[in-house]
Amino acid sequence: MRQNEMLLLKLGEVVLKGLNRRTFEDRLVANVARRLRACGSFQVYIRQSTIYAEPTAEDCNLEAAYAAAQQVFGVVSVAQAVPCGKTVEAIVETAKAYLAEAFAGARSFKVESKRADKNYPLNSIQLSQAVGGELAEAFPGVAVDVHHPELTVFVEIREKYAYVHAPAVPGAGGLPVGTGGHAVSLLSGGLDSPVSSWMMARRGVELEMVHFVSPPYTSQQAQDKVLELARLLTAYCGRLRVHIVPFTEIQEEIRRQCPEEYFTLIMRRFMMRLAEAIAKRAGAKALVTGESLGQVASQTMMALGVTEDVTELPVLRPLIGMDKVEIIHTAQKIGTYETSILPYEDCCTVFTPRHPATRPKLEAVREAEEKLDIEALVKKSLEGEEWLWVKP
Ligand code: ATP
Ligand code: MG
Repeated sequence: MRQNEMLLLKLGEVVLKGLNRRTFEDRLVANVARRLRACGSFQVYIRQSTIYAEPTAEDCNLEAAYAAAQQVFGVVSVAQAVPCGKTVEAIVETAKAYLAEAFAGARSFKVESKRADKNYPLNSIQLSQAVGGELAEAFPGVAVDVHHPELTVFVEIREKYAYVHAPAVPGAGGLPVGTGGHAVSLLSGGLDSPVSSWMMARRGVELEMVHFVSPPYTSQQAQDKVLELARLLTAYCGRLRVHIVPFTEIQEEIRRQCPEEYFTLIMRRFMMRLAEAIAKRAGAKALVTGESLGQVASQTMMALGVTEDVTELPVLRPLIGMDKVEIIHTAQKIGTYETSILPYEDCCTVFTPRHPATRPKLEAVREAEEKLDIEALVKKSLEGEEWLWVKP
């Protein structure tokens, strides 16, 4: 790490939020600060829609912080930058030293300047020209090209200091976690639900995970795999509470008492009831699933209607209109793919009907459920629930 190097994080949609802007900014600063804690002591503060993360001790791992900052929702771009005096000389000296390597690898460059300090004696064009001229002399092998430069040197004039940095990399976008409400996400070991969780967290939703287990039909490895998926998501969401809910008895009762074509649907309805109970206890206002229209029999339009019939909470299904390839692509991008494809049984695949109903009638499913003591089964399952924190 170079001396005084720091991170500049640009805010995304947060800046558009009008009156709520303060709340959004405060939340984002807190989220960034919490996420960087694992990388050393940083001072994190916001000025004019830019978040500054300044190392305050030798123990800081700036590379790790740079990577972590790119996974915080609400941040659109992240740059590494060095502060310097606000004179043209100081800026040029800093750029020469700090970007020497970048200049060595480029054939052309330009300087782009921004002034947050409107009292600065030069306007941004004048400043770019002055700094660009000096740098062109210092690096005679690198030509000025204002249209398609290989290297752009950014100069920002802020209140106290100027900052010099090379191009920013994209951040995770979206909204700060915690600004979009609180929801319970149904997390299985599959490809879809980690992606749906990630998508809702990106819209600022604080998540609480629920996972249903059916021992001995499902294994400890299957459960560990889900905890690992949750851990991977913490890079974006921060720490996550994961509820592990026993589901064996419910599944066995369904198999014993209900028509086979409705097994999956009735099971899905129990998942919704249990998730809703956990949501209400936690004050969460929605459920999140990884369902995608038409992907399997239980995800036809009629089946989705039958499933959500048992809950008053909105069921958020961010994958509803996505193709499997897009989902896989996202899973690869966010880093959950490799874990998701590990081959362990999920309780959904334990008692799958040979011919599941694809156009189920709500009345028929309700009737098929009548033999079950729904309340008692839900109560008993909730009594066996355990939860744990999964941390980054
Ligand atoms: P996924 O890839 O997320 O497992 P899927 O395509 O296999 O989804 P289903 O098995 O029908 O679809 O499950 C639909 C949704 O129900 C999942 O995306 C998830 O939100 C929830 N779900 C399924 N199984 C479980 C489970 N064991 N625990 C918690 N939620 C589950
Ligand atoms: Mg599944």
